[in-house]
Parts: sequence; structure tokens; C-alpha cells
Amino acid sequence: MDMTWFDELEARIPTGTVRTRFAPSPTGYMHVGNLRTALYTWLIARKNKGVFIFRLEDTDQSRQVEGATELIYRTMNECGLTHDEGPDVGGPVGPYIQTERRGFYGKYAQLLVEKGHAYHCFCEKTEEEGDAFQRAEDPCRSLTPQEVEAKLAAGLPYVIRQKIPQEGNTSFQDVCFGEITVENSTLDDQVLLKRDGLPTYNFANVVDDHLMGITHVVRGSEYLASSPKYNLLYEAFGWEIPTYIHCSPVMRDAQNKMSKRHGDPSYEDLRSQGYLTEAILNYVALLGWSPRGELAEREFFSLEELVDAFDITGISKSPAIFDLEKLKYFNSSYIKNLSPEAFLAAAEPYLKEGIHTPSIDLSLVAPLLQTRLDTLTEIPPMVDFFDALPAYSNELYTHKKMKTNPENSLEALELTLPVLESLDTWTFESIHDTLIKIAEDNGLKNGRIMWPVRVAVSGKPTTPGGAVELCHILGKAETLRRIQVGIQQLTPNP
Ligand code: GLU
Repeated sequence: MDMTWFDELEARIPTGTVRTRFAPSPTGYMHVGNLRTALYTWLIARKNKGVFIFRLEDTDQSRQVEGATELIYRTMNECGLTHDEGPDVGGPVGPYIQTERRGFYGKYAQLLVEKGHAYHCFCEKTEEEGDAFQRAEDPCRSLTPQEVEAKLAAGLPYVIRQKIPQEGNTSFQDVCFGEITVENSTLDDQVLLKRDGLPTYNFANVVDDHLMGITHVVRGSEYLASSPKYNLLYEAFGWEIPTYIHCSPVMRDAQNKMSKRHGDPSYEDLRSQGYLTEAILNYVALLGWSPRGELAEREFFSLEELVDAFDITGISKSPAIFDLEKLKYFNSSYIKNLSPEAFLAAAEPYLKEGIHTPSIDLSLVAPLLQTRLDTLTEIPPMVDFFDALPAYSNELYTHKKMKTNPENSLEALELTLPVLESLDTWTFESIHDTLIKIAEDNGLKNGRIMWPVRVAVSGKPTTPGGAVELCHILGKAETLRRIQVGIQQLTPNP
């Protein structure tokens, strides 16, 4: 076999740097486990001043989902998990989309056949599916080269299978799971190249990780069981084996993995449920990894801080349970720590969902909310009263601590209405001073005025902000109108 083509490809492989890859299949949404894999993989590259590669694993054409690739790009982008090489930015070892590499795999499979570590299998598709297919009984394993030639010449469809040694053991090392040894007799002669000429994941990942110079492979522990077979492939080719980091699944509870089917949220779902990207990333980083040493007790990390703190030895092999309450705790802290401008930008779409009245200044509403939220989606129902005064019960006027009740609230509103009516400058300070003065002039505690006014202008038992803020934001005319409504509904029918 002429090795020039192979030698040229091999010569392109960069050496001397850490190179990691995120290799999603465009088969659906970006679940939390995927995001965690992407994050850890990115962190290993950045921590080691290495290279982060994006590779699209699209060989299973039947499982492709329209729009999935765009969604993965969008997520990576939003999360700041930038790649140095990939389909869109190119790089020295491209193409970075597996279907565009289809020519490679056939040649490498052929090379493996020549080395005696793979064989053509002409069995019927139905024969090879299901548990019944025993490789030891595969008649194709022992076909002579002449028999194979004849079948190929006759145009018979075939797959190429890995020829696993029938005796001995295979061991491999994993960062999380340690050394794992399996008996070769338990491994099946997996398909490397399918009838359509495309590789299986099992073959493509080995060929591509090698040709792309990948030093650390981070992936879900569902691939752990196949890793001995991958090692046999690396050994058969004489290639260096990368560092394996198999991460345990993210669970919804002690027994079950998170799953879309059970309604568990994806990254995009969490975003649309009002979680900030930074909070999601911080929380996801801690799902199965914990900082060590001085940082051991620390919970809050920005992406940059994670780059410094991250260490693969902190990845745990026990499955992590996704806890929405914990994520809420992170989210609420991240929301509180946003600058007022950043909070307004994040809150604006939700404010607009609740408030449609153009005269309401959203930049005055936002600061009332920032410290009161777990998620941004809580905003619309908290602010909708700005648009329209809801129907409310006079019971809201009763407040034990404020010593208010419907009767004295009516008096308070009747005192307040004319004073506010004659107030010319409508600012926070002027409204504040006016309401305080009404209380003072009438020998009342502030709450006796503030509570009834707050209830009258909002119609709600609780509001972000008190009477002064609400009157200020609503504007003079609307405030007076709402106080009149209050007076009306508090006035006993004659
Ligand atoms: N395409 C595989 C997946 O999405 C990637 C596994 C790997 O990273 O090797 O599960």
C-alpha cells in the first residue's frame, strides 16, 4: 500500500501543545451534560494555553435534526466557549465536519485490514443486528483474501469490522475511573465502516482524534465501555493514546439521568426560564467538579476564574444531581451582582412583557427588582400592575404592623389626594417629602399613609418598591386616578 497519502496527513498533526475538542453530533438540543463536556474541554485547553477544536460528528445522518448545528454554535458563542479551529474558522487539520472527511475513513479502514486488525464482513444486515450476532461465529472473519476479492468484485455490500483478539486483556487508564481492564473475549468486533461508506462513531472518533492531534478526550461515561476497543485501534495503528476523561452523567435524581423526555431543561430552556448564562455556566462547572486546595470552599467563579481554578483531578466519578434550587441560588446572586445597566438590559424583555404603557420608565422599575429575583421570568407578574390597576379586595388595606384598616385607609387617602393634586414637581423626593409631611401634620406614623397609598396605586399585597417609588413611576395623573378609585371602593355605600 502506498503510504504517501497517509504520511502527508500525519505530517499535518500539530505536536507539543494541549489540544482538546468538543465533538457534538447535531442530533438535537444542547443538554446540560453536553454543555458541561464542552466547558470542561474548553477549560483544559485554556488552562494549558492549548487549542480548542470544534468538530461536528454528523456521520449518523438518520439522527440529524434540522437547526441543531446552529443551536450548538449559538450556545457555545453565548457561553464564551470560543474555538480556535473548526468548520467555520478552519485550521491546519481540517475539514472539521466528519461527512467532509468521509474519504479518510475508508482509507484508514483499508489500512487496518492490511495490518490484520479489521476485516470485510458481507453478512446480511439483519444477521448482524441484535444480540444474536456472535463475532466468533462470523464466517467473514476467516475469509481468505481471494474470497474477499471475489465478493468485492461481485459488488456485494459489506461493512468493515474491527478484528478483536480472541484472547488476552486490554487495559486503559481514565482520569476519573482509574485503570480499567477487560477481557478481549467480551468485546465485539464492532463495525468501523458502514455499508454507506461512512464510519461509525467508534471508528471516526479514533481516526479524527489522532489526525487532529487531540491530547485530552473529554466525553460522557457512556463511552467508557467502548474505550478498550478504541485502545486496540490506537495500538493497531501504532498511535499515541490520548488522556481519557470520562464524565459521569448529570442526573435528575438518584436513579435517573436528566432527559428531555422527562421535561428536564436544556441550556436554551434554562435561558428562556430566566437564568443568566454566567450563572448556568458556574453551576454546570460544579456538577461533577470541585475546586481543590485554597479554593475548595469557593462556589462562585467567572469563566476566567474557572480557567485558573480548573484541574482535571477535581472531576468526580460519582454522578452529579442537577438541583434547580441550587441553580436559582446562583442565578439570584448573579442577578444581584450585575451592574444597573447590565441588569436593565437583561430584564428589559421581561419588563416589556409585563408593562406596555409607553410612559412607564423601565429604567426606574428595574432597580426595584434586581435584589428580589431568583429568575428573570418572575418579572412580568411582578410589574403588570403598572399597566392596569387590578381589581383588589379592601382587605389589602388591613395591615397589623402598620396599624391600618379599611376605615383609616379611607381617611389617609382622603388626606393625601388633595395634597398630591396640588404638588407641581413630581419627583421621588417631592413625593416622599409630601407623604411624610401629611403623616407628620396629622400626628400619624408614616406607615399609616404609605401603606394605603401603596395598596391604592398597585392593588397588590406586595410590590417591588413602596408607595413613593410607585407614585413616581406611575406619574401624577395615574396616581391620582388610582387613589380616587381607592377612595371610591373604600367609601361605604349610603
Ligand atoms: N459525537 C459524540 C456525542 O455527541 C461525541 C463523543 C465524544 O466526545 O467523543 O456524544
